[in-house]
Amino acid sequence: MEPMEPNNKDASNASKNQCNSCADSSCSAAKRHDGEAEQDFLERRALQSRLCRIKHKIMVMSGKGGVGKSTVAVNLAISLMLAGKKVGLMDVDIHGPSVPTMLGLEGATITNSPDGLLPVELGHLKVMSMGFLLPNPDEAVIWRGPVKGGVIKQFLADVAWGDLDFLIVDAPPGTGDEPLSVCQLIEPIDGAVVVTTPQKIAAVDVRKSITFCRHVGMTILGVIENMSGFVCPHCNEVTPILRTGGGQAMAEDMGVPFLGSIPIDPLVAEAADAGQAFVMHYATSPTAEIMRKIVAPILAMDDKA
Ligand code: SF4
Repeated sequence: MEPMEPNNKDASNASKNQCNSCADSSCSAAKRHDGEAEQDFLERRALQSRLCRIKHKIMVMSGKGGVGKSTVAVNLAISLMLAGKKVGLMDVDIHGPSVPTMLGLEGATITNSPDGLLPVELGHLKVMSMGFLLPNPDEAVIWRGPVKGGVIKQFLADVAWGDLDFLIVDAPPGTGDEPLSVCQLIEPIDGAVVVTTPQKIAAVDVRKSITFCRHVGMTILGVIENMSGFVCPHCNEVTPILRTGGGQAMAEDMGVPFLGSIPIDPLVAEAADAGQAFVMHYATSPTAEIMRKIVAPILAMDDKA
């Protein structure tokens, strides 16, 4: 697939002129830096004028694939929305976008407006994903780092996110181009939520994510241990079928907050396959209650603001 077509000129010009309505002369986007090219200034201002309308920006990361990171990102975003917040969910897993499937938004498309690209809306949740731009779900995206960085920049600067309380960014596993682009482009970013599973092999990889955050100066909001024990579909008892506690031990060892453990719940997988947001459709289940408790400190960030 070819790199994403830039949006039309109207949308591009609209976003680049947005700062004309703001009188904050102390903002760094209000004037051109010494030696900064006009085009670079316009692009920086376009990006900043989107980001300044979003109160909290959070990246969800994992050290390796298969730990349920997108499930956590989706349910985090939906939990915040259900708590009355205006939320954006930006899926920057360019090679394997799963957010549209998990939210039942497959086949949805992005449209243009004078204010920029319009994200897909689900209640008060605005969603942007590479999955909306692929002509068919089997299409492989074969792009190198700089192109991916350009797409992430477009997702931030050219999408009409509007005023949001939270933007949740679902990054692909590992510490490659995409998470690096996100933390370079979103300035300031509130921090990262790191998802792992209890097994030692996952905890080893997640240490790399924490080291990455420290290298780029990004706050670690906390670690979530996913797939920690199994919820019996008959009696709801949680059985530790595999080793548990690895994520918590690793978080303590690395001196970062531990947000909590989410058990393996067949309903979570069922909801994702059915394109239903788990915390919304199974709101009364014990696992949804666990997820809400895990989200509470993140929700409190906005109440403190
Ligand atoms: S980036 Fe935001 S705060 Fe800064 S000048 Fe533009 S609109 Fe105003």
